[in-house]
Amino acid sequence: MKYCSHCGSLISITVPEGDNRPRHVCTSVSCGSIHYQNPNIVAGCLIEHGDALLLCKRAIEPRYGLWTLPAGFLENGESVEEGALRETREEACADVEIMQLYTMFSLTHINQVYMMFRARLHEPLFSPGEESLEVRLFEESEIPWGELAFPVMNQTLKHYFEDRRKGEFKTHIGAVKALGEGAARRIEVQMLQGGNP
Ligand SMILES: [Zn+2]
Repeated sequence: MKYCSHCGSLISITVPEGDNRPRHVCTSVSCGSIHYQNPNIVAGCLIEHGDALLLCKRAIEPRYGLWTLPAGFLENGESVEEGALRETREEACADVEIMQLYTMFSLTHINQVYMMFRARLHEPLFSPGEESLEVRLFEESEIPWGELAFPVMNQTLKHYFEDRRKGEFKTHIGAVKALGEGAARRIEVQMLQGGNP
């Protein structure tokens, strides 16, 4: 952000009085707006139909052509559950019933929070929306583990199959962090609740 979205004046990066971290602050004395930047929420569904799960093949970047669970950025005025259901309708043309919040991951390196709900598809009615190349049901043995788009989806699926074997679905809370620099940079998942699969 270079110019104030309220008045068009230049923005400077400064710590406002009474604050403790740098913010985008409008340099106009008469405006002086502080433009806070906070994490975005991504809401989505892990969808069961019988023993199978519904995955979407991405028709958009990033990760074009890889498989994911339907999910996307929450819109203003929407509850997280409504956002998850809307994304499912948009990407998989499916109407599902939400059962529980299943995984929540803070992605601190990209300032996003993922909230994935376990949901049920009653009738096998689905088709690719505009952002999907293909939508299909996968049995556990068919999951394309090497072609999944995002680490959080990989983690969510691993927890799911582990929980299914135990016969109990708990909510799993964790953080995905980027550790190290340059070539040594790696992504690590740290679970707070629910354990690692
Ligand atoms: Zn301004």
